Amino acid sequence: MGGWRLGRFIPPAILLLTLGLLAGLLGVGQIEAGLKPLTLIVTLVLFAVGLIAGWAYLTDRKKVETALALSEQRLRLALDAANQGWFDVDLRSGKVTISPEYARIIGYDPDGFEADVPNWLAHIHPEDRDGATAVFRACIENGGPGTTEFRRQTRSGDWKWIHSIGKIVEWDADHRATRMIGVHTDITERKQAELALKKSEERSRLAQEAAHVGVWEWDIVNKRNYWSPEARKLYGATDDEVPSNEGWRRRVNPEDVPLIDAAWNALREQKEFEVELRLILDSGETRWLLTKGSAEYDASGNVSKLIGVNLDITERKKTEEYISNTNSMLVEQAKHLKNVNAELEQFAYVASHDLRQPLRMVTSYLTLISKQLNSQLSEEQQEYIEFAVNGARRMDALILGLLEYSRCGRQTESFRSVSLADIVAESLLNLNTTVTEAGAKISVAEGLPKIRGDKAELCRLFQNLIGNAIKYQRPDKKPEIEIGFGEKGDRWVVWVQDNGIGIPEGQRERAFRIFQRLVPKGSYEGTGIGLAICKKIVEHHGGRIWIEDATGGGSIFLMELPNTAPV
Ligand code: ADP
Repeated sequence: MGGWRLGRFIPPAILLLTLGLLAGLLGVGQIEAGLKPLTLIVTLVLFAVGLIAGWAYLTDRKKVETALALSEQRLRLALDAANQGWFDVDLRSGKVTISPEYARIIGYDPDGFEADVPNWLAHIHPEDRDGATAVFRACIENGGPGTTEFRRQTRSGDWKWIHSIGKIVEWDADHRATRMIGVHTDITERKQAELALKKSEERSRLAQEAAHVGVWEWDIVNKRNYWSPEARKLYGATDDEVPSNEGWRRRVNPEDVPLIDAAWNALREQKEFEVELRLILDSGETRWLLTKGSAEYDASGNVSKLIGVNLDITERKKTEEYISNTNSMLVEQAKHLKNVNAELEQFAYVASHDLRQPLRMVTSYLTLISKQLNSQLSEEQQEYIEFAVNGARRMDALILGLLEYSRCGRQTESFRSVSLADIVAESLLNLNTTVTEAGAKISVAEGLPKIRGDKAELCRLFQNLIGNAIKYQRPDKKPEIEIGFGEKGDRWVVWVQDNGIGIPEGQRERAFRIFQRLVPKGSYEGTGIGLAICKKIVEHHGGRIWIEDATGGGSIFLMELPNTAPV
């Protein structure tokens, strides 16, 4: 490398030195020839000048070479640092020379790399090839500079994004471009970042669209607004509407404007801007928006920028409104029902109370008449009086039942922890005579649970059920009754099973209705109120009652009762 450099600057140096030497020799010759000292001095000066000029030339040349090498090194480093490399195209032969940096960028060893225009084009991504070719041709036409970006396949088969700028630097006599020089820059990283950003923006856009979330920005200082495509949709903005604060404000329902002021006040306290308001769109449609934003502040603490989101909450608001309307309607209805119920209960209570008095009179006077006219009355007449007295007694029983029905299920203050085992035991005690007379066999499960309830009501419940189980028995059989329980989630299931006459499936609902009897008149005594009272009591305790077939014939009365821990 040093050889050719010396070759370039040695001839002029030798020329100057030779001139000096010749002048020196000439001087010496002249001294010998006895010439004048002046001539000798001139000769010697020429010799010195020759020597100095030769030396100076050599030194200068060295400096230039050093500067050149330095500048080339700097260029290389700069190109390397910028991921750049140059190219030089001989447009006549199509041969391309590239700098080592560019060779390295596309994965080649700089020493053995040779390229031409067709090879360059062949390695450009098919999608980018036409664009790059067009720019290349245009540059040849107009001299450039021409700029393009394309994906270039590397030696390993990957793709690198290249930004290319080229310019024509030489033409032939016919003004045809003959040489193009330019710079290739590896912009893969930037492109990947751009791509990632684009993807993330796309994802965010899709998410906004799916969730009906609009993004907005208000640069108060520069009086600039941004509405995302979804925000524009929410505002019902046309494509040519320029986003502006006025544009947004004019859509806000005037009744909701004070809400914005309140939200502004929150901002002044460095809190979030949050408001639910109605927009009246240009189409006349009303849309509910939840607008949330946070602020940027200037040095004096004034809001300089607001960035936020809008959420379409129209559906939510409609549902809320519907629920609230329905709720108040239900509250009204419940109030009304409570009043009606109270009135009915009061009526039933008063009526049954007051009805008993005249009934008692009927019974007593009939009995009195019967006693006084005892000898004068025929057997038939006495039977009539007996019918009348029985009817009055039956009516009294019905009224008593009604009275009981209207009384039960009224109070919850009386609720306390009660043991069903105690309740069943007390009921059996009350039914002692009936049980003994019927010769009933009764088995009670061990460990009947405790529940919260009204002791008297629960006693009435079991007494009715056990009483019925004994009463509705086949004539040829002795009652066998089983009282058991089980657990089902947060509920107890308690049952009373008998081996009696059973209840057909289609009649089971009816059995719980007041005054409904499923047996023929006169076959079994009763008023048809007992099961209605049972149902009322079970419901009063938050449970339900139903009938199923007992395993060995007969019926099973099941009750589901809450098993909330008794307090
Ligand atoms: P009552 O026993 O006074 O007639 P209930 O309300 O207690 O009134 O019963 C309603 C009807 O249900 C009864 O008339 C009867 O037909 C039927 N019933 C009740 N319990 C049983 C039972 N354990 N077995 C069969 N039928 C029953």
